[in-house]
Amino acid sequence: MADMNQPQQHTEAERIFGVTCRNGHVSYFDKQRVCSSNNRKVVRGDGTELDELYLTCSQCDDAMIVHVNCEAYR
Ligand SMILES: [Zn+2]
Repeated sequence: MADMNQPQQHTEAERIFGVTCRNGHVSYFDKQRVCSSNNRKVVRGDGTELDELYLTCSQCDDAMIVHVNCEAYR
């Protein structure tokens, strides 16, 4: 849950990331949006905490599992 009282610290360019599906399409997602959805779970690596996001290709509906550091966007 994001703190609504905090000033915006990230530019849109930093928030947008591209994911390539198995068919080679690139879909772009907004970290701030996908990191605040419930369609994710947190996985832990070596000293880092990553969010496992379940995203869908915008062109062929291929399901994609993407690991993103959502720390700054929760
Ligand atoms: Zn696709």
